[in-house]
Amino acid sequence: MIAVETLALSPRQEARFWAKVDKSGSCWEWAGARVRGYGVFRLNGQMQRSHRVSYQIAKGDIAAGKIMDHACRNRGCVNPDHLRVVTYKENAENVCGAQKNSQSGVLGVRWSRNARAWRADVTHNGKQTLLGYFATAQDAEAVVVAKRNELFTHNDRDRQAIGPVAAPKYFRRRRPTVLGKEVSWEDINAAQAWGLTLTEWFSLTDFERSECRRNITTAPKFEVKP
Ligand SMILES: [Zn+2]
Repeated sequence: MIAVETLALSPRQEARFWAKVDKSGSCWEWAGARVRGYGVFRLNGQMQRSHRVSYQIAKGDIAAGKIMDHACRNRGCVNPDHLRVVTYKENAENVCGAQKNSQSGVLGVRWSRNARAWRADVTHNGKQTLLGYFATAQDAEAVVVAKRNELFTHNDRDRQAIGPVAAPKYFRRRRPTVLGKEVSWEDINAAQAWGLTLTEWFSLTDFERSECRRNITTAPKFEVKP
């Protein structure tokens, strides 16, 4: 089953949307409210991310499992021509490429025969850290990408939202921490739904985080399939 994110805007809602866009430059800057640099737009009582709305107005639906990529690296830009829809696999491969022998095709994710699950590892400064075992490669990928976003600052291509993460098959004895806070799967899902790195997520105030969590249903809807 293909889940598709569909937003039907009335002409009046479209007019209200474009009224918040400054088209004077090459990047169309969002002049309305922002969350961590991304424009947000209230539509039918729900918060949507502006660049996704713009893309859907101009180019149509976004299929499940696809993420929006700002080719211009400007989060506040809503120019549809600067937005690309890529699979998160393509996105992850843009980082530095999965190892040839990895069955998952994703850097840091491989099948563990012993655990009968997908194993996620991240290597930083020569030290490999096991992040956990997951039922699907996509879940493992979501976690390695989140962790790399926390550890690395120059992995631009990684720094995108990907689908929600199912609870891991096996928890690590000690959960990863970001900015001294223990990361829950709920945090990972919420951060990714909003296109934030975990570091950015935990730099939000408690209020901002609760607002983002409350509006989680309006963040991009993905279905993770095994
Ligand atoms: Zn742009």
